[in-house]
Amino acid sequence: MSTASLFRPSAPPHPVGLRLHGRRVVVVGGGTGSYRATVGLLDAGALVTVVSPDVVPALEALAGSGSLSWTPRRYAPGDLDGAWFAVAATADAAVDEVVAADAERARVFCTRADDPGASSACPALPDAEDGLLREGARGRVVLVGGGPGDPGLITVRGRQALSQADVVVVDHLGPRSLLAGLRGDVEIVDASKLPRGRSMPQEQINALLVSHARAGKEVVRLKGGDPFVFGRGMEELLACAAADVPVEVVPGVTSAIGVPGVAGIPVTHRGLTHEFVVVSGHLPPGHPQSLVDWSAIGRLRGTVVVLMGVETAPAIAAALIRHGRRPDAPVAVVVEGTTGSERTVRTTLADLGATLIEESVRPPAVWVVGDVVQLAAEAAPPPSLGFGPRHAPQE
Ligand code: SAH
Repeated sequence: MSTASLFRPSAPPHPVGLRLHGRRVVVVGGGTGSYRATVGLLDAGALVTVVSPDVVPALEALAGSGSLSWTPRRYAPGDLDGAWFAVAATADAAVDEVVAADAERARVFCTRADDPGASSACPALPDAEDGLLREGARGRVVLVGGGPGDPGLITVRGRQALSQADVVVVDHLGPRSLLAGLRGDVEIVDASKLPRGRSMPQEQINALLVSHARAGKEVVRLKGGDPFVFGRGMEELLACAAADVPVEVVPGVTSAIGVPGVAGIPVTHRGLTHEFVVVSGHLPPGHPQSLVDWSAIGRLRGTVVVLMGVETAPAIAAALIRHGRRPDAPVAVVVEGTTGSERTVRTTLADLGATLIEESVRPPAVWVVGDVVQLAAEAAPPPSLGFGPRHAPQE
């Protein structure tokens, strides 16, 4: 049986931190991979022995200063004696495999630079506390919902995917500031769809995701909010599936719920509202391609949340009133929610169109109709916004 199959994990690694201070650690190999591992081990206070006929100058300097001990020859059985931990980083898979097998026999945990997936231990990734190392080089696409804009509102899984990405395809909405934290070699592709402005055709985005993944890349498609709420995420998933490219979906905090939420507006409230509906306003009522039954929504008692509906707001408000919603129904418009420019404008359904002009409201904005809006206005100040003063909504 090959030793590799012994370690090939069928379950995720269990994350722990090793306290290596004063403990013997053996690093086999003298290249930059070995150096990278060694500096971390020295930071942890480990007593490092490097075994390698030659070493890169940085390792030589550490040996010269007495920070580590260098055994200037090839690896030999017995080299792991007394070690608590081992690193196999020789750039020679056959040697790494021998080291890993010896380590396994001696019950010494070992990382393998040539094949992290076949190691008994894998190093933690800097940006993803409990991230797992990727195995193999087969490319794939991760559809990540980034939340409405505040970088703190992406999920842990989303952050992990970003920290492992080779290519990140971004939109103009969502947590842009996270891009600053990407590794320098990560390719960023701008696939923004500006409202009635420049945009990359969806077919081109789909083709791009597929071609990068086929080239073996880990591709993150970073979207605002949730990928499947008016995000065309399913089109991208289907394009990948048709091309036999694996896809992972990482849900996100949708602006439909999260943006009213940070402005102190709950979409439901016990004893007041037992339903909410999220509608796209990108087509006005009566448009031949509209799939929305505005008369049903007008008759609804509960909360109506409208996305992509700044320009169409007057027509939508008129339709809702025509079909039964009260003209004085309270409305809140939350603009650029969870960003430094967040503001909330309050009005009524009848006055919505005029208010948007008076207040010069531009997208992105979410508007909300319903009793829950009144509730928020009465609860002053909005409780536990969670974003600090920078994001406190303004009246
Ligand atoms: N998938 C996204 C929605 C994409 S449609 C999500 O789940 O949030 C784009 C619309 O989302 C915008 O027109 C606007 O109505 C809303 N939106 C997205 N981010 C927003 C933000 N930070 N503040 C207010 N509205 C936002």
